[in-house]
Amino acid sequence: MARLLLIAVGAAALAGCTKAASSEPAPPGEPRGQAPPRQAPAVEPRGQAPQKQAPPGQAAEPAAAAGATFSGAAYAAHIEKLRERLRARKLGHLNVRIEDPFVVAGDGTPEELEQRSRTVRWAADRLEASFFARRPAKILDVFLFETADSYERGVEALTGRAPGTPYGFYSSAHDGLFMNIATGGGTLVHEIVHPYVEADFPAAPPWLNEGLGSLFEQSAERGGRIVGLTNWRLAGLQRAIARDAVPSFRTLTGLDGVAFYGDDSGTHYAQSRYLLYYLQEEGLLRDFYRAFRAGHGKDPTGYATLVQSLGERDMAAFQRRWERYVAGLRFP
Ligand SMILES: [Zn+2]
Repeated sequence: MARLLLIAVGAAALAGCTKAASSEPAPPGEPRGQAPPRQAPAVEPRGQAPQKQAPPGQAAEPAAAAGATFSGAAYAAHIEKLRERLRARKLGHLNVRIEDPFVVAGDGTPEELEQRSRTVRWAADRLEASFFARRPAKILDVFLFETADSYERGVEALTGRAPGTPYGFYSSAHDGLFMNIATGGGTLVHEIVHPYVEADFPAAPPWLNEGLGSLFEQSAERGGRIVGLTNWRLAGLQRAIARDAVPSFRTLTGLDGVAFYGDDSGTHYAQSRYLLYYLQEEGLLRDFYRAFRAGHGKDPTGYATLVQSLGERDMAAFQRRWERYVAGLRFP
């Protein structure tokens, strides 16, 4: 039995997900009212040695040279502008630190920020190791707000709009992730996936982008690799399967953004998540991701790659098997 290092247990949360080039901080319609009970993470992920904390008003130390995506000068210039922006928005009290390739800014104590940043470090390192060959092309800010109240005020101050989700979201238009970290680290890991997908597989369709984000919103380490665990999205999917309301995989993979994020988005997220979960448990997920990324020119939806990865001739029969498999999963 593999030893599991649990992170982000519990408050996996509804992730808000703005796609590239959207100026909307609101998620395009994830289901409401299905959030899990709020729990504190059971175990903090084991981060790397923390990087140096910069006191407010000073430039942070540049990231360690080894593995640094951006130069120390680039980080220093970015942080100087960030601090100016924060001060201008009455957020000058936020602490700032570098977690390459991100800059993390939070309204908790420096110790809290360091602790929260371990989730960023843990997720980024393991996602890169398993999936992503490319890092975001520019420095992105990760804003971690300690309370619902400070999150709402902070998002409004930084984006000009109230957040459309109580949990957190990524906005490529604002070069940042905006998190209400009081709801747990699950949404944070989900949202970290999105800028990586944007950099590594910009043509990825919504089902893959949200399937991966959702998969890792409840994650652990198994044999040194990041794995998604069952989570709160399971119950809704099991109900949808029971009433025969789950689309075929050909349909799911062919959905464009409007359709994916429209009606039934909750089912789309969950179906994508548990398809990838199945591939993960079969040991197929990493190879599937790479094959899809390499071949998306010929197979933009990933459906043909999926059929090939599964080695299936009869996808209707596979779907019935997969539905029985999902019906037998348990959470918690
Ligand atoms: Zn998302």
